[in-house]
Amino acid sequence: MPASFTETAVRELAKTLAGHPGALAALIHASRLIGSDPELVLHGGGNTSAKVTTTDIFGETETLLYVKGSGMHMADIGPEGFCILRLDPIRRLKAIPDLSDNALENHLFSQRAVAGCPDPSVETLLHAFLPHRYVFHCHADAVLILAHQKEAKRMIRDVLGEKAAVLPYRHPGYPLARAVAAAHEKAPAIDTLVVLHHGIFTFGDDAGQAYARIRTCVNQAKAFIQKAVKRVPSTSAARSRRRRTPRISDTARVAQVIRGMCARRTPDGSALRRLVVSRQGPAMMDASLSREAKKICESGVLTPDHAIRTRNRMVYLDAVPEKDEALKRVVEKAVHQFRAAYMRYLYGQGRSGPEGKPPEKADPVLFLVAGLGLFAAGETPAAARIAADIGERTVIAKHRAMAMGDYRPIPAAHVRDMERWPLQTKKLKPPAAAALAGQVALVTGGGGAIGYGIARRLLSAGAAVALGDRDIPRLERGKDLLIREFGPERIASVAFDVTDFTAVQKGFDTISTLFGGVDLVVPNAGIAHVARIEDLDPKILDRTVAVNLNGTFHTIKAAIPLFRRQGTGGNIVVISSKNVFDPGAAFSAYSASKAAAHQLAKIAAMELSELGVRVNMINPDAVFGDQKTASGLWEAVGPERMRARGLSPEGLKTYYRQRSLLKTEVLAEHVGNAVVFFASEKTPTTGASLPVDGGIPAAFPR
Ligand code: ZN
Repeated sequence: MPASFTETAVRELAKTLAGHPGALAALIHASRLIGSDPELVLHGGGNTSAKVTTTDIFGETETLLYVKGSGMHMADIGPEGFCILRLDPIRRLKAIPDLSDNALENHLFSQRAVAGCPDPSVETLLHAFLPHRYVFHCHADAVLILAHQKEAKRMIRDVLGEKAAVLPYRHPGYPLARAVAAAHEKAPAIDTLVVLHHGIFTFGDDAGQAYARIRTCVNQAKAFIQKAVKRVPSTSAARSRRRRTPRISDTARVAQVIRGMCARRTPDGSALRRLVVSRQGPAMMDASLSREAKKICESGVLTPDHAIRTRNRMVYLDAVPEKDEALKRVVEKAVHQFRAAYMRYLYGQGRSGPEGKPPEKADPVLFLVAGLGLFAAGETPAAARIAADIGERTVIAKHRAMAMGDYRPIPAAHVRDMERWPLQTKKLKPPAAAALAGQVALVTGGGGAIGYGIARRLLSAGAAVALGDRDIPRLERGKDLLIREFGPERIASVAFDVTDFTAVQKGFDTISTLFGGVDLVVPNAGIAHVARIEDLDPKILDRTVAVNLNGTFHTIKAAIPLFRRQGTGGNIVVISSKNVFDPGAAFSAYSASKAAAHQLAKIAAMELSELGVRVNMINPDAVFGDQKTASGLWEAVGPERMRARGLSPEGLKTYYRQRSLLKTEVLAEHVGNAVVFFASEKTPTTGASLPVDGGIPAAFPR
C-alpha cells in the first residue's frame, strides 16, 4: 500500500478518534498502563479493545471495534496502533465455526473501517464476541504461575473470587473466542476469565474498572504465591552454596561458544551469525543452580505467545568445563540434541529438515547455565534482548511455580500449533538483509575521526559496533553521535588502553558479555610525532611503538582465543598507513612503527588462516576528520606539517588533495567503506593491502 495512502488513512483515523475522545483516550491510557508494566506484558504481548458507536459517511449508525494491532507494543501505543473494524460483520462469524484462516483474514481485512490500519490482533474474535465496551488481556506471570498448578482451577477461584471464571486451554482465534463467549453467556456476572496456560482477560463498560481488575487480580495472585512459597523449603538451598558472582571472563567464554554453535553456514560457506546476551540477577542464578533447573528448561513456555521468540524449550548446561575444547564439546552436543528433538517436535519424524521446512526454526534461543545464568541468542541485538527478557521472567516464574507445588506444563502440541500458525508467526518481521547483519566489530581508537568513520559505515552495513579507546570523554562523544544516528541497540563503548594487554583482553570480555563475541577486529588506534631522528626523544619512540605496534599486537593476540571459541572465522583489518610504502622525513617514529604493525598483520594472515580468519590492511593517507570528530593524529602533527610546508590548515588540505592522482580528499568514511568490503568477504583475500589515498604512485603496494 503506498505510504501516502497509509498516511491519509491515519489522518482519517485521527478524525474518527476525535469524535469519541473519552472512550478512545481511556483505551489508549489503559493499554499504555498495561503495556508498560513488565509484570503484565512483555514485548508486544497482550491486547486491548474498545467498542464505539458512531455514524458512517452515509449518516447511518454503526459500531466499531478498536482492537490492538498484531505485534504492536502497548507501552507507547497511539491511535495508529489499533485496527478498526466494523463490529457486526465480525460478530456474525460466531455462526461459522469452521472458517479457514485465509477466509477469516480476508473477512477481517475487508471489514476495516479505516484502510491502512494495522493487522488486527490474533485474539480479535474474542474481543468482538464479548459484549463489553472494554476488553483487556495480558499474560501476567503471577496469574500464569497459578494457571500451571495441579489445582489451578480451584486455586484461581479461591484467590480471584467468584466474579472470575477459569477455562481450559483453547487455541487462540476462533476456538478460544467461542469458548470465552460461551463462558460469559453461562455466567454473565463475571468480569474476569483466566485461560489455563495462556493468560487473563478482564472486561467491563468502564475502562478504569477493567484495568483495576487486572491489577487487583495480579496483586492477589502475587500475595498468594508469596505465602505459598514461604511454606516450602527453598528448593535451591543445596546448591546455592555454589552461587558466587560470575566472572566476566567465564560469561564471555560461554557466550562466545554458544554464539559459535548457534551460527549457521550458508550454502556459499559464509556464517550467518547471531548475537548473544545474558541475564545474571540473583533469582536467575538461584534457578540455574536449583535441582529444578533441567525441568525448568524442558517444561515449555508460560504462554504459547512466547514460543515464536524463545522456542518451547531451553538448553540446560549443568557445568562449565574449564578447558575451551571441553566446553565446546558440551555445548555442541547440547545444541545438536536440541535441534534434532526440535525438528521432530515441529515437523514430525525425520532428523534433517524436511524439504521446505526451515531448519533454523529448530535452533535453540535460550540457554540456562549453572552458576552463570541465562543466555539468549538472536539475529539482532533486539531479538536477543527480547528473548532474554521473556526467558528471564519465564525461568523465575517456573522456579516459583515449582517451589509452590506441582508445575503442569502446557501440552507441547498446543505450543507447536501456535509456533506454526501463520497468523502468529507473521508478528516476527524478518531483519533487514544487510551485508554485515549479525556481525560484531571492535574498532580501537574508536573515539577518533577514522574510528568514527569506520563505525558509521559498519553500522550502516548492519553490524553491531563496539568502540574502544583510552580517552573516555572522546569515546563517549563518538558513541553519542552514533547513537543519535543509529539508535542505542547496536552500539557499545569499552574504555581500554591498547598498550596494556590485560586491559585489551578484558575489553574483549566486556564486548562478549554485551553482544556474545566479536567477528571483525579493526586495530586502528595510533599516535604520531614529527621529529628528525637526530632530534627524536627515545621515550617518544617507545611510546609510539607501544601504541602503533604493541597495541596492534595486543589487539590481534587477544582476539585469537575468541575466534577459536566461536569457530566461525572472522576478519582483522589493520589500519596501516600510506607511509608504510612511501615514508616521509621527520616522521620516523610513526612510519617505522606502522611498518612493523603492517608486517605483523601479514604474519597474522599466515597464522590465522587455519581459523578461517582473514587479515588485511588498509593504507590511508591524510584523513583530516571534520568539526564533529577531529583527527587527534592530525591535531598532533598537522601544525608541524603546515610549518614544514609553509601552509594554512585549508592550504594543507588542498596540498594533500592536489598531490594524489584522483585529486580528491580522503575521508574517514572511505576507510570505513574499505573495512566493510573486507568484512563482507566478497573476494577470497587475506594478507592484502588496499590503499585509500586518492592514488599516490610512490605508495603503490609492492
Ligand atoms: Zn494471549
